[in-house]
Amino acid sequence: MIASILFVLLLGAASWLFARNIMRIRRNILLGRDVTINDRPGARWALMARVALGQSKMVVRPIAGFLHIIVYAGFVIVNIEVLEIIIDGIFGTHRVLSFLGGFYDFLIGSFEWLALGVWVACAIFLVRRNIMKLKRFVMKELDGWPRTDANLILCTEIALMTAFLVMNAADVTLQQQGAAHYTRAGAFPVSSFIASLTSFTSLSSGTLIAIERTCWWFHIIGILFFLNYLVVSKHLHILLAFPNVWYGSLRPKTEIVNMERITGEVKSMLDPSVQPPVPAARTVAGVEMQERFGAKDVFDLSWKQLMDGMTCTECGRCTSVCPANLTGKLLSPRKIMMDTRDRLEEVGKVIDAKGRWEDDGKSLHSRISEEELWACTTCNACTEACPVNIDPVGIIVDMRRYLVMEESRTRPALANMLTNVENNGAPWQMSQADRLKWTE
Ligand code: SF4
Ligand code: SF4
Repeated sequence: MIASILFVLLLGAASWLFARNIMRIRRNILLGRDVTINDRPGARWALMARVALGQSKMVVRPIAGFLHIIVYAGFVIVNIEVLEIIIDGIFGTHRVLSFLGGFYDFLIGSFEWLALGVWVACAIFLVRRNIMKLKRFVMKELDGWPRTDANLILCTEIALMTAFLVMNAADVTLQQQGAAHYTRAGAFPVSSFIASLTSFTSLSSGTLIAIERTCWWFHIIGILFFLNYLVVSKHLHILLAFPNVWYGSLRPKTEIVNMERITGEVKSMLDPSVQPPVPAARTVAGVEMQERFGAKDVFDLSWKQLMDGMTCTECGRCTSVCPANLTGKLLSPRKIMMDTRDRLEEVGKVIDAKGRWEDDGKSLHSRISEEELWACTTCNACTEACPVNIDPVGIIVDMRRYLVMEESRTRPALANMLTNVENNGAPWQMSQADRLKWTE
């Protein structure tokens, strides 16, 4: 009875904390500009099924992709077991779903194989990161917390799967001993082997029950911890990958979206009867903000671009194909996304502390340098490579637009070209009247 009360309290507290954190993430994402994305819903559902559910872009690198699919399937499927654990925890029952008979045996057996697969895959991922030191996992932007975050989550997965298998090993041994409460149910292909290896059969019922209960509590506390850890870690992509792909762009990747206000300005310049557009103002976190040209801070990006930042898995597949990065430039599209997310979280903390937004004297440009921004060729190799369809290029272009249009800062070669366009209507340093002189 006490165990059930404790369990319900724990479940309630973890669920409340999770809901609170999700609402905070939603609030932060909605600090971005409003954009409506709901065209071609059929194509969006198909894309989500293929890219987010089917992991189609992960398997471009077959070994890593296969291992990731095992971890992903394990995370989703083994956690069906959590449903039974919750019912058992609340009502003090044991293997309440065992009435499913043969199907239950099949489920538990499959969970065990998957749990073993997840264990092995996570161990390989740890080796790739920490011993083989693959280039994209040892880059500077992962120093500190991002690297610890990745290792912590892999170790947590290994610990959870170990607890699950050891719990079952103790359980199956208790079932064989005919211990009260441990009625025969389930198939245990992996844990039976662990039980035989670890001489569980020679242990007393009391010791086995202590092991089984410890692992049971460790497993469920670990899962509730994991649930709340997700929302403060890069592993939020487990949840956000789906909406992020659904709301992703369906336009050709290299198409750069026009700024409606600029288009309106140009139209009014060419035709004086057309009224120039009036900049829109909006209230964000208690503060009225004017529409900007391009992006100075997270408020100037769209909510979808901010969702991109929160979805980034820090896998580095974008950076590993970026021609700018590969040729030694400072730019890393992964860092662009990490900086966007970090700045958004920084802004969110100010709003949490003060109840409204108060300028902290920083912006996205405090984290992302001009050198990084101007190194981008807008080739979109990063967008193509991203397994969750994130678009770092849109953020880079919007930040450049701010530098050029609001700060008049650009590269010297571009400054000449822009002056020529303004004065001559063409990128060349000659008047329009002289353009055809080369034919003479
Ligand atoms: S679009 Fe820019 S950031 Fe992306 S891969 Fe090309 S150069 Fe790198
Ligand atoms: S933007 Fe995409 S490819 Fe790049 S690190 Fe993030 S998730 Fe990986």
